[in-house]
Amino acid sequence: MMITAEVSKRIQDLRQQLNTYSHQYYVLDEPSVPDAEYDRLYRELESIEKEFPDSVTADSPTQKVGAPPLASFTQITHERPMLSLENAMNETELVDFERKVRDRLKTEIDASVAIEYACEPKLDGLAVSILYENGQLVQAATRGDGATGENITLNVRTIKNVPLVLRGTDYPARLEVRGEIYIPKAGFEKLNEDARSNDGKVFANPRNAAAGSLRQLDSRITAKRPLELCAYSIGVVSEEYALPNKHEEILQCLKQWGLKINNDMAVVQGIQACVDYFAEMGRKRDSLDYDIDGIVFKINDLAIQQTLGFVARAPRWAIAAKFPAQEEITLLEGVDFQVGRTGALTPVARLKPVHVAGVIVSNATLHNMDEIARLGVKIGDAVIIRRAGDVIPQVVSVVIDRRPENATDIVMPTECPVCGSNVERIATEAVARCSGGLYCGAQRKEAIKHFSSRKALDIDGLGDKLVEQLVDAELINSFDDLFHLNLEEVAALDRMAEKSAKNLLASLETAKNTTLGRFLYALGIREVGVTTAQNLADYFGFLERIQQADEATLLAVPDVGEIVAKHILAFFKEEHNQIIIEQLKKVGLSWPEAEPASAEDSAGLPLAGKVYVITGTLSEISRDDAKQFLQQLGGKVTGSVSAKTDCLVAGEKAGSKLTKAEALGIDILDEAGFIKLLQLHQVEGF
Ligand code: NAD
Repeated sequence: MMITAEVSKRIQDLRQQLNTYSHQYYVLDEPSVPDAEYDRLYRELESIEKEFPDSVTADSPTQKVGAPPLASFTQITHERPMLSLENAMNETELVDFERKVRDRLKTEIDASVAIEYACEPKLDGLAVSILYENGQLVQAATRGDGATGENITLNVRTIKNVPLVLRGTDYPARLEVRGEIYIPKAGFEKLNEDARSNDGKVFANPRNAAAGSLRQLDSRITAKRPLELCAYSIGVVSEEYALPNKHEEILQCLKQWGLKINNDMAVVQGIQACVDYFAEMGRKRDSLDYDIDGIVFKINDLAIQQTLGFVARAPRWAIAAKFPAQEEITLLEGVDFQVGRTGALTPVARLKPVHVAGVIVSNATLHNMDEIARLGVKIGDAVIIRRAGDVIPQVVSVVIDRRPENATDIVMPTECPVCGSNVERIATEAVARCSGGLYCGAQRKEAIKHFSSRKALDIDGLGDKLVEQLVDAELINSFDDLFHLNLEEVAALDRMAEKSAKNLLASLETAKNTTLGRFLYALGIREVGVTTAQNLADYFGFLERIQQADEATLLAVPDVGEIVAKHILAFFKEEHNQIIIEQLKKVGLSWPEAEPASAEDSAGLPLAGKVYVITGTLSEISRDDAKQFLQQLGGKVTGSVSAKTDCLVAGEKAGSKLTKAEALGIDILDEAGFIKLLQLHQVEGF
């Protein structure tokens, strides 16, 4: 078919656009569009080229791998090219892959024999080649354009799980290990958290963070980044070395030689089993501690791999099946300001609805005005949205060259959008707040949701939607109104009936018998979380004593610092808060009060006088149980790390508390260490 001028122009435009995006992505580590957008354009070009095979040129992005290396690094020519992978965007394309393989192998494999595949999670980082000579790491390189990469030997040497010397003795004299360098999810979050508090560079996603961290001219910077290697294949190997004949066995060799391989990999028979593995990993994706963008399926038999060979940019014996993209591009149509329980106004992006990772997203958080300034985002902009796991969708960047002329600045309102009260911004805080207090409908709703939540009064059956209805119908204005509700008015509400109304009234009755800790927490005093509330209750024993405490007395309570003490004082100073407390007592709220346990009571116990903080996820034991065990042993448990803390119990994914404890030189116990402590003190069940 003759190519028209119009198609020819489209080919040129696509190639130019894809080359620009590749340069930004591979060379600058600063992609300006999400992968999904790149992939759409790439596929469009691929399909035009398929239709007009004469139009294919050797320098078309469909024939190339990555991009040429950055000139500031010395360059390394790969002895064996480092290729990319073909992609399958859906099940049909995956099944089609096997059909094409079978067509090529007609004479070699009988149709009744299943093809064996190695299935490997496709880590989202960047490919590296690491050369070992006589077991010593001598060179490391990026993939670059597949033929030439950047010399990153010094940087790779700083990565903790990359062995500088191979284990054992039976490795080949020359061995090129290939693998992905990536940043696990927890490391990524911590890196960005630190960057935000130090005005450093915030990365859009773990892939960018890994690429930006690895391709540093100063390897001391790389050394500080939480990078890891996962090996997935080999390149050159000394000729005389007899390799196993299955891909999976090669991975086992790499493991023996001290390299990390992926423990979630599997070997399966036939493409249908690959489809099942893909679905299973798709379900697990969010709970993995590393980011994956798909699954790589490789034919396990190396002889078959060799028969199949390669096309220009990828092997014919492997395919990467992609998961739905976690990043997409859309328009920022407006910004709403949501008012929280303490009056804080949070800007929320109103987006042109877009599919991200399998769901339609129409809102994303913008955190606060500092974040808006950092992103440089305006209303009308094309923005990149990221939705990973069950985390709230985020705006990660702005596609500046798509900014329309009429884009407008985002301005913090001077009046609360809900109640019209003044909005105040305190110089030392990133947030602005509505000054309306409980007069503001939004704050009232959030305060009541908090009051009835599980760790507060735990009012069963009083969900968020019901609270909103009750406030909108003006049936409750303050906490005590909850306890004056009658059956008829509750039953008349949307989605309520007599039975559910009766249940709600019964749980309100039950909730009246509470504890001092829960009651204090339920009041919603700023910065007073569950632990601080309980510490106040334990320290004072009586509500009246807390109401009357001065700053110095409050500061003696574990977990209470100057800011918290000020909030507590301010809360009890407000007359309307005193009135609310009196009214709650009047409707029958009560809790046991008693003289606090004195220091002597725990004096004989093994952890007496020791202050603990628990953070991160513990897998063997719940946090509440962990806390109780420590208390049983005489220890105190507080919510924040300070100079008063003796020990931090840090589970998986511990964040800023761990960093702070490390900085303060406080003892840190991981979960295994914590369990040993419980065993040492013969806590029942350990
Ligand atoms: P690819 O990421 O689709 O697949 C090849 C790569 O997968 C390998 O090089 C390797 O690094 C990696 N990989 C991970 N686990 C592996 C395993 N177990 N076995 C083998 N390889 C494994 O291809 P690519 O050529 O690296 O990059 C294309 C991708 O980059 C596309 O998703 C594209 O969207 C994205 N991209 C985005 C932009 C942008 O502007 N956003 C620009 C260029 C490319």
